[in-house]
Amino acid sequence: MFAGFKTTLVTVALAIALVFALVFSQEIWSSWLNIERYALFGLTAITVLFAAQFNHSRLAWLSIFVLAYDQLDWLAYQAGSQTVLVWLSSHRVLPVLLLSVLVAILSVIKDRGLLSIHTLSRLALFTGAGFTAYGWLELDQALAQYHTEFSWLVKLKPHFYPELLFVMTGLITVIASLRVKALTQPALLVTLMALISQYYDWLLLPQALVTLLLLSFYLLTVIISSYFLAYRDELTGLPSRRALQQLSLSLGRKYCVAMMDIDHFKKFNDTYGHDIGDQVLKLVASKLKRVGHGGKIFRYGGEEFTVVFPRKSAEQAEYALEQLRISIADYKMVIRQPQRQGKDKRGSRKGSVEKTVSVTISIGVATRDSKQNFEQVMKAADQKLYQAKRNGRNNVCL
Ligand code: GH3
Ligand code: MG
Ligand code: MG
Repeated sequence: MFAGFKTTLVTVALAIALVFALVFSQEIWSSWLNIERYALFGLTAITVLFAAQFNHSRLAWLSIFVLAYDQLDWLAYQAGSQTVLVWLSSHRVLPVLLLSVLVAILSVIKDRGLLSIHTLSRLALFTGAGFTAYGWLELDQALAQYHTEFSWLVKLKPHFYPELLFVMTGLITVIASLRVKALTQPALLVTLMALISQYYDWLLLPQALVTLLLLSFYLLTVIISSYFLAYRDELTGLPSRRALQQLSLSLGRKYCVAMMDIDHFKKFNDTYGHDIGDQVLKLVASKLKRVGHGGKIFRYGGEEFTVVFPRKSAEQAEYALEQLRISIADYKMVIRQPQRQGKDKRGSRKGSVEKTVSVTISIGVATRDSKQNFEQVMKAADQKLYQAKRNGRNNVCL
């Protein structure tokens, strides 16, 4: 339920800290403000391009909306005699309402290609948001007209506008950011916080600066999550094989590498199904993460994992690996299996039964000798792994 709790908390805390820092350093940055207004367009273009490229269409939309909001706010602020702008400047809450509804929508939809089959339905959704915001405004004005006639409306009125909408969009965004573990979620939450704080003049920062910060924040989010995409394995959350290659470039002369492989995993999949196999891989990975002795763990691929111990020999790493092997063998994993029809329903919850399973792993370790490169050490560890398998599995072979 709360997959994104930590990410959300850290992001929001950082955003608040940044605002405080900016409020207190006003003298330093206030002279840059004129440049910023032009920088916003460039920054939006870069963010949209990157976001679209790396499949973060929600951040692309968000950047466009935030820039449009900023420009509208700026134009309304400078409104001269042009009628649209005059109308807008007397309805300045409308863009605020609209953006808050858009943020809530973005927090619950999925990332799809920016220009794809989904674009039309998305545009329809965003137009719907426009009508909602406008309707909200009209409703408020209608209530204002009638509120002398109906006394209960007088009581309702103060809660209706615009706070109730902020509470609703806020709740949707908070719940979505706690449920879904994606960096876009806290970015949306921070946007809503900034929007509402600006509306009530809590931030004491110029709108252009807030927009600049938000856009930079989105760009950073795209970059960080693309990094995770490339260097993290999605299923287990462990660093991927590509991350292992990166690490290999920074290793010194002395290190050892351990290759691990789950025993008879094919049979396990055949017995319980691929989905249960995936659950088990995740649980095994969560145990492997706790490898001690400075070991760094990676998912090499499939049901194979690699641990690198910088500045250690195989003998020095043996104890930690042995502990790891034992902890996996002793680990009784509780898995959820979908209920088959016509079976005993006792102990089932929401159509699934809980089951306890366990697996073992075999480990092969090799120390780098003075002439070997990383690939050769890996190969040597792999040979030790085969030996561990031949020795009957569930053991460490040096
Ligand atoms: P051994 O003890 O010799 O290692 O036997 P094994 O069956 O584990 O070895 P093998 O390498 O032949 O089979 C690996 C199996 O792991 C094949 C595949 O079914 C399973 N597997 C690989 N990657 C995944 C994955 O991401 N999810 C699931 N569920 N299974 C996977
Ligand atoms: Mg294998
Ligand atoms: Mg295996």
